[in-house]
Amino acid sequence: MQITVVGSGYVGLVAASCLAELGHQVVCVDNDDRKIAVLQAGQVPIHEEYLADLLARHGGKNIRFSTSLTDSARNAQAVFIAVGTPQGDEGDADLSYVESVAQELASAVNGFMVIVEKSTVPVFTHDWIRKIMHINGAPADSFEVASNPEFLREGTAVRDFLYPDRIVIGVDSERAAAILREIYRPLTDGSYYERPDHIPERLGAPRPVPLIQTSAKSAELIKHASNAFLAMKISFINAVANICEAVGADVRQVCEGIGSDERIGRRFLNPGIGYGGSCFPKDLSAFSAVAHECGYEFRLLDEVMRINEEQRVRFLRKVKKALWTLRGKKLAVLGLAFKGGTDDIRESPAIALIRMLLKEGCEIRAYDPAAMERAREVLGAERITYADSPYEAANKADALLLLTDWPEFAKLDLRRLRTILAYPIVVDGRNLFDPATMAEHGFQYYSVGRPDVQVPARKAAVDP
Ligand code: NAD
Repeated sequence: MQITVVGSGYVGLVAASCLAELGHQVVCVDNDDRKIAVLQAGQVPIHEEYLADLLARHGGKNIRFSTSLTDSARNAQAVFIAVGTPQGDEGDADLSYVESVAQELASAVNGFMVIVEKSTVPVFTHDWIRKIMHINGAPADSFEVASNPEFLREGTAVRDFLYPDRIVIGVDSERAAAILREIYRPLTDGSYYERPDHIPERLGAPRPVPLIQTSAKSAELIKHASNAFLAMKISFINAVANICEAVGADVRQVCEGIGSDERIGRRFLNPGIGYGGSCFPKDLSAFSAVAHECGYEFRLLDEVMRINEEQRVRFLRKVKKALWTLRGKKLAVLGLAFKGGTDDIRESPAIALIRMLLKEGCEIRAYDPAAMERAREVLGAERITYADSPYEAANKADALLLLTDWPEFAKLDLRRLRTILAYPIVVDGRNLFDPATMAEHGFQYYSVGRPDVQVPARKAAVDP
């Protein structure tokens, strides 16, 4: 199939590369000239596992890059819209990027195309796209608008796309359904997985991949409701963790107890400093705004957002509890990305917390395996420096703070850390370590929803 993907960010670039991997002819379009130049030069602008492999495999063959939407879309049977839908001033989704794509597309229609919403959009967006196409001159029978929400997670995006839990296609005509079914056929009939060069499997992924066909409206709602539910799970367990702290219980044990009920499930019951990223915060806010517009006050969502905000403030209080005063304290911060496995810092709780700590007068030496360049752009260099390794960040620091759940942080050499920190104090916002192990290594250890480890802090015996 000839496919155009509009927007070459985290979703568009991954979707385009994976669609090329499935055998389609894909043009990936962006109005950011620099991004397209980077991609045309064979470089990869984002950190995402297997993305570089796919681009190397298909670049110049199944996938091309362009800044011209009209040229690229002219012969396309499907055009996926994967542009940003950021939060607007009133908390609702700003759909102006989607609208401008629809305006441009109207002049590119040539034959029949299905316009596919890949961006996360509020219910009724497909109707608006249709109207915008009409008033800009696209004949009614020359296009259909469908919704195909994307559920990939940054950090595992390529494997999530190729090994999804389900594919949702929201269509209002059989013609559009047939095109979308054909696009995903290698996944739903399993032929992709028979290929010797397939991208390694995602553990636990269902086969064959279920394809759920709904109306466009339902598909739009599925995406918002999914993200709202996941965020609710995170805020719920954070609230439970706060009660655990108050009564001296251990949230790990509580999670095991409730998560083993298969109606609840263990996943996403990870207490910490709250969710962030480019999706949950804006999507919850947008879903709440949609509900309000429909005449329903979805107050549960407001509370989910409030708990999430509060979780950061509680963490700051924990840092104060561990260190007393903060002015002039030298803190090692591990983690800048909003979660492990990505370089994305949008709405990262780590960035928000660093800003709070800088405001308190701390000096910060930060390390992140992938997100330092992006973080430097937004945090600057005043009272914050960037280290080449976790150990360099920790060297002679008054305390170590863990703010992102990178798996490699959980494997740090605790003995070495104990030696190089000025004081053996660790405040862990992601529960990466076992409190008993931290006690054995002589750390004062503060985590989320678990009793503090209060080994008396003494200055490190060995000066490295
Ligand atoms: P992004 O900001 O990384 O990428 C968006 C891209 O669209 C940018 O490169 C931008 O230059 C481009 N763009 C904007 N207007 C354009 C136009 N008129 N023509 C061509 N290109 C244009 O955003 P993202 O993270 O990829 O998210 C895109 C959408 O997918 C959002 O609606 C988001 O909510 C949704 N989504 C994101 C994720 C995720 O994990 N990032 C997951 C699922 C769904």
